[in-house]
Amino acid sequence: MVDDVISRRRFIQVGSGVAGASLAMTAGMAAAVVQAGSGVRVIGRPMPHGVDLPSAPPARRRQDSVGVAVVGLGSYALNQMMPRFAQAERAHIAAIVSGSPDKLRTVGDAYGVPPESRYSYEAFDRIASNKGIDAAYIVLPTGLHAEWAIRAFAAGKHVLCEKPMALSSADCERMIAAGRRANRKLMIAYRSQFEPYNLEAMRLMSQKAVGDIRLVRTEQSYRLAPTSPSENWRTNRALAGGGPLEDYGIYGLQSALYLTGEMPESISATTFRPTGDPRFAEIFAHVSSQWRFPSGAVAQLVASYDSAGINFAHVRGTQGVLIMDPATSYSGQKMRLEVGTSRDLTPGDPSAQFVRQINHFADAVRDNIPIRTPGEMGLRDLRLIEAIYASAKAGRTVKLASDGRMRS
Ligand code: NDP
Repeated sequence: MVDDVISRRRFIQVGSGVAGASLAMTAGMAAAVVQAGSGVRVIGRPMPHGVDLPSAPPARRRQDSVGVAVVGLGSYALNQMMPRFAQAERAHIAAIVSGSPDKLRTVGDAYGVPPESRYSYEAFDRIASNKGIDAAYIVLPTGLHAEWAIRAFAAGKHVLCEKPMALSSADCERMIAAGRRANRKLMIAYRSQFEPYNLEAMRLMSQKAVGDIRLVRTEQSYRLAPTSPSENWRTNRALAGGGPLEDYGIYGLQSALYLTGEMPESISATTFRPTGDPRFAEIFAHVSSQWRFPSGAVAQLVASYDSAGINFAHVRGTQGVLIMDPATSYSGQKMRLEVGTSRDLTPGDPSAQFVRQINHFADAVRDNIPIRTPGEMGLRDLRLIEAIYASAKAGRTVKLASDGRMRS
């Protein structure tokens, strides 16, 4: 959890228009700005603090290794994902894409990316002619995912896209259609779907380890430091949507689905946005929802950017309870099963989730295996997010079809 919070605290900025962009371009920062089709802009950002670059370029392990272009050298890419490529059996960093010439140089040198495979956003479309690049890993602010995934498909590349997939189901549908047209793979980087604790929890719940599930509760919260939409993309509606639900609450949303193995048939929700707080000028501070599943089970989900840090999932059944706290961190997961007696479970190393995710993507590209977290899953989740906001706005329960579309 702590590392989740640190990565979110980095000063990162954005602007959904010219004013925001010029604000972001401070002295000494050669930022490239490109107008994206959605109206939001890509902007190069300075190197985040505390990044450990490799002392020697990682070696490529296999001949059939998938060459990946990392698009957006932000905190998550530099601190979490890029170092994990060194452990991946079948994928390597073949190119980098950034609006910061400084990062292109230092990160490119550290990872052994040849100068001709370092791209500005303006030059991005030229990846099409680079045969060493099989795929693009889109790790930009969320409001930019659709645009850049679609451009990657147009360049003939496969796409691994960070969560959440996009900010609307319409954008998810455009991404899926573009991938199909290009006959390329689309995977959403839902790392918890590759993490040993969450995989064990799924297995236990499918075997009814707590009996019939009656209640799932999830909460993903932390307190945003003072900031504003022009300083931090996570508070900018064009780049972050409603805020905490898309960014952090998506883990609880996913957990509620994979722990119950069901889709909700109705959702009622509420949102809160305080007045006069620049952090919440454009996004919500809290989003809370209650779901009812066809089995009769209920889920209660909370996501907040303004309450003390927590990241848990609880499942209460007719026979016992499963407690995951922290549930979906980068590392340090804890899980307890209470059925008669209480048992702490330690199914594996949570930090394996990153490399397993990369390996799965590479296997899908090379061996054409079905993707565990495809675009359709990202689309499903965006439909549920839209239902949550629709319910909160209308002040009533919304009913859902089995694919997550709203029925009323
Ligand atoms: P950062 O703000 O740290 O990095 C985003 C990077 O995107 C910037 O450094 C910049 O890279 C580039 N960028 C391009 N345009 C903009 C813009 N307008 N405003 C800000 N940055 C811009 O974000 P994160 O790394 O934390 O998040 C990136 C993505 O990764 C998001 O989709 C997020 O949801 C996801 N994420 C996933 C996590 C997980 O656990 N799976 C955890 C954290 C984030 P450059 O300077 O190179 O151009």
